[in-house]
Amino acid sequence: MLKYSYSKQHVTLSDIWEVIKVLRSPFLTQGPKVKEFEQAICDYTGAKYAVAVANGTAALHLCMLVLDLKPDDEVITSPNTFLASANCVRYTGAQVKFADIQEKIACIDTNEIENQITTKTKGIIPVHFAGISCDMEKIKIIADKHNLFIVEDAAHAIGSEYKGGKIGSCKYSNMTIFSLHPVKNMTTGEGGAITTNSKELFEKLLTLRSHGMTKGELWKYEMHSLGYNYRLTDIQAALGISQLKKLDKFKEIRRKLFNLYKQELVGDERFSLLEEPEYSDACYHLCPLLIDFNKIKTTKEELFNKLKKRGLNLQVHYIPVHTQPYYKNLGYKEGDYPKAEEYYRKSLSLPLYPSLNYSDIKHIVKIIKETVK
Ligand SMILES: *Cc1c(COP(=O)(O)O)cnc(C)c1O
Repeated sequence: MLKYSYSKQHVTLSDIWEVIKVLRSPFLTQGPKVKEFEQAICDYTGAKYAVAVANGTAALHLCMLVLDLKPDDEVITSPNTFLASANCVRYTGAQVKFADIQEKIACIDTNEIENQITTKTKGIIPVHFAGISCDMEKIKIIADKHNLFIVEDAAHAIGSEYKGGKIGSCKYSNMTIFSLHPVKNMTTGEGGAITTNSKELFEKLLTLRSHGMTKGELWKYEMHSLGYNYRLTDIQAALGISQLKKLDKFKEIRRKLFNLYKQELVGDERFSLLEEPEYSDACYHLCPLLIDFNKIKTTKEELFNKLKKRGLNLQVHYIPVHTQPYYKNLGYKEGDYPKAEEYYRKSLSLPLYPSLNYSDIKHIVKIIKETVK
């Protein structure tokens, strides 16, 4: 039986060779490869500065730290995201507010952002869900009007574009973060990166990545801020450099596969896929299938189990963050963000990764159509 998961890394011999070269070199970490990777990220995105870190969550944490949030401050993000987009705010003690999503795109709704803004709001973390870009120009207008910072959570969106510019260029934001976990568009094993055009933010991020330390003369080092060990290794950076070279190729394949799903599902009223707005050119990270459960006989739980038995080990992106017990304890409840909740009830992420081909897509769609009958 053919088996599929929703996502999978694409690592080949050329990547492996780059990693081996580092393993045979004097530096496994804090050598030349991390800087080289950071420069490659700058060249790719067009941002002035990049900081490679241990993972995407660490990237988000460092972004919140350099913004110096106070416990009363509020930061707005999407409820349809991975936990880390909200948790990073809580790490600093500040408060998370959610703004509901736009149907069919599943990214944060710019009108809802305005509704959530109070005198305590300090920033917005838009999440480029599934690789589809948020409407950054609109978000920036809102942020400028209320004097808010923007940190783009582009964990899904390395390789994506907004209005012809790469996500990560920070044209409309203060900082952008990427995740380089194996399920994402490219990988370093674990890993993440932050891009920015601000020298001041860049220098703070660099210091906080490594214990808040600065180097002085001789053996002397000084610590002025409370930092962490959020470093990426040279082993990982070498994999990142190699993977980044292939990202545009990955993007081409991911877009092609997404369109093949569309082609195979078109005209079937039970199913739909996300719609890409004209301002976005997504490096699709996910292909969420939206199922109209009123039109089929199975429940989502039954369907999930049946598909698993037939080799499709799928995932759901996402359980709305505000419905997690931790966030319920902070006062949120079911019903607070109805569009994200409705989206969650309908969605199931189809397999999407570069080693799939047309016959895989046809096979997957066939199994789904047979199973929902
Ligand atoms: C994966 C992910 C993260 C966290 O990245 P890690 O590298 O796993 O720490 C943050 N935000 C979103 C939207 C993600 O999907």
